[in-house]
Amino acid sequence: MRNWAVAIHGGAGVIGRSMDPSMASVRMNHLEMVIRHASERAEQGQSAVDLVEQAVIELEEIPEFNAGRGAVLTADGKHELEAAIMDGSRAACGGACLLRNIRNPIRLARRVMEQSPHVLLAGEAAESMGMDLDRVENDWFTTSLRKEQWESWAATKREADARGPATVGAVARDQAGNLAAATSTGGRTGKPPGRIGDTPTIGAGTWADQTCAISGTGHGEAFMAAVTGHAVSARMRHLNEPLAEAASVIIHQEMPAGSGGLIAVDGSGRLAMPYNCEGMYRAAADSSGHLEIAIWD
Ligand code: ASP
Repeated sequence: MRNWAVAIHGGAGVIGRSMDPSMASVRMNHLEMVIRHASERAEQGQSAVDLVEQAVIELEEIPEFNAGRGAVLTADGKHELEAAIMDGSRAACGGACLLRNIRNPIRLARRVMEQSPHVLLAGEAAESMGMDLDRVENDWFTTSLRKEQWESWAATKREADARGPATVGAVARDQAGNLAAATSTGGRTGKPPGRIGDTPTIGAGTWADQTCAISGTGHGEAFMAAVTGHAVSARMRHLNEPLAEAASVIIHQEMPAGSGGLIAVDGSGRLAMPYNCEGMYRAAADSSGHLEIAIWD
């Protein structure tokens, strides 16, 4: 059994091998930095829920990813951010969506989990729980890449950029054996205002219990229809499947080809990171010294 294990992702989708190599290597370097930080904290005994929150905060601060600054634009050219976190050790979860001014959506999701009797809060109701958190103007989240992608979406009504959206997420098993998951995103380029995806939807893009922790990325509607995160856990518990098999069946047999991927960890610290699309930015590490950072196979 591994003492601790962590994995992070920076999005899945149409990530062609012919894409701009500088963007790929910038994102890979960021993933390496964040997984190394998470590994150090895991080694020092940080709890799973703090590990995943902290990793996602770091990823939200990196403008090359689709979370926090660098998030994609809605059809009306604004940002509506969403995030969720789940602590598998106590079945506690929180999500926040339709956020326009909270700098780190995952902090607000954590607050919903810890300080409200609810699971998912949207818009002003959510933002009002974070009056003391860092707030920014909506256009602070905009980067030139996202403007370019929005312009191309506006002209074609298609999201076709090989540099992809790049949602972020993290899963962890801490030294005490607890599991947690966190995910944060700006959603999809050109999404209609008010659209809520799988990321803040507990059970779909974000899930953790005492069996496994999951963070998904890809076509949110497909993850919601398959209730992907919960479905992996259910296969493990009811069919006695190991993590890799359960995750692979859901991603490769039950979800449409091209819909995305997930990162997952089980109670023994085993990791799985399947995807059914061209690529998925991902990194993983555990207490045996294993470290991996990849986009493709
Ligand atoms: N799953 C996210 C959504 O549909 C986007 C992504 O992971 O790229 O909002």
